[in-house]
Amino acid sequence: MIKFNQPYMTGRELWLISQAHANGHLSGDGSFTRLCHQWLEAQTGCRKALLTHSCTAALEMSALLLDLKPGDEVIMPSFTFVSTANAFVLRGAVPVFVDIRPDTLNIDESLIEAAITPRTKAICVVHYAGVGCEMDSILAIAARHGLAVIEDAAQGIFSTYKGRPLGSIGGLGALSFHETKNVISGEGGALLVNDDAYIERAEIIREKGTNRSKFFRGQVDKYTWVDVGSSYLPGEIIAAFLAAQFEEAEKITQRRLDLWQRYHAWAERLESAGLARRPIIPADCTHNAHMYYLLLPSLDARTGFIDGLRQRQVGAVFHYIPLHSSPAGRRYGRASGDLPVTDTVSERLVRLPLWAGLEEHLDEVLAAADASLAAPVR
Ligand SMILES: *Cc1c(COP(=O)(O)O)cnc(C)c1O
Repeated sequence: MIKFNQPYMTGRELWLISQAHANGHLSGDGSFTRLCHQWLEAQTGCRKALLTHSCTAALEMSALLLDLKPGDEVIMPSFTFVSTANAFVLRGAVPVFVDIRPDTLNIDESLIEAAITPRTKAICVVHYAGVGCEMDSILAIAARHGLAVIEDAAQGIFSTYKGRPLGSIGGLGALSFHETKNVISGEGGALLVNDDAYIERAEIIREKGTNRSKFFRGQVDKYTWVDVGSSYLPGEIIAAFLAAQFEEAEKITQRRLDLWQRYHAWAERLESAGLARRPIIPADCTHNAHMYYLLLPSLDARTGFIDGLRQRQVGAVFHYIPLHSSPAGRRYGRASGDLPVTDTVSERLVRLPLWAGLEEHLDEVLAAADASLAAPVR
């Protein structure tokens, strides 16, 4: 079976973990965490990077930083992972779901203003498949209405929009290092703070509501409870693993991009024949090959294709069940009008295997895909 995803490891993870072990500092914010923070700040140009347990945790920190009150509204796409919405629902806020663009499958910026009400506090964009949203328009809308912009850049490390790394454009950005992403630590994530006004509180919220970070820097002589907060920082073992991944992050991305290009060249024939639509990358975006997906003509075609691949020992998956039609999405959020693009994409999208190491199996995957499309198994 060729798996849909296989976590890539550089081989240096255990060595760096053994150093963290030898250092004897196992809780958070030791030397490996500092190394990761420096790497992220250099890589993204954010004002402050803070490792978290997950992208979910970084989004929850964002919701706390915005001081959301029950009934406040946050505009976001429905075609996303549940954490985009959950983080705000935990504060009592209401996700307001907007449709996506048919080309990039990112939030359709032309529909955002119609979703704004007096309760709207923020726009949370999602850079789907590591391809940037139309950020200039979104930032302009936010500025006009006094809204915060949060980037769910879970899939976006090493991608850019008009030369700017994803996650470094809005006031806050959230990255994921979950093992299904490009650069990994099992579970893991980071909050990128781009607006200086959030930095001090972000450190406090991450450290259980205490000013412990200031204490360690010698800026206060004892630390105490100063605000709401929780424990959002990972231990040094995770940070050491991540540091090893960062050493090879560029190489991992390049390997994924090469695979992505091979898929894209292969799928050109399918697109010409009307059998599938390929991903579209806008001219002002560079991407990180987080994902290779196809849009098939119908739900039946997709079901047949995924079944056919499985019978030929290739794992392929689909996502997302739109949040606006999920049980919790209906309870806690609302849709801004109809979301026809979200509904149709959700039924027709299929993701193909893409991981560093797939190179030697790719011909097999393509042959299985060709065969499955020619004679879908029912
Ligand atoms: C993976 C993902 C998340 C969640 O990331 P975790 O690190 O697992 O919390 C959130 N949003 C999007 C768009 C994702 O792809």
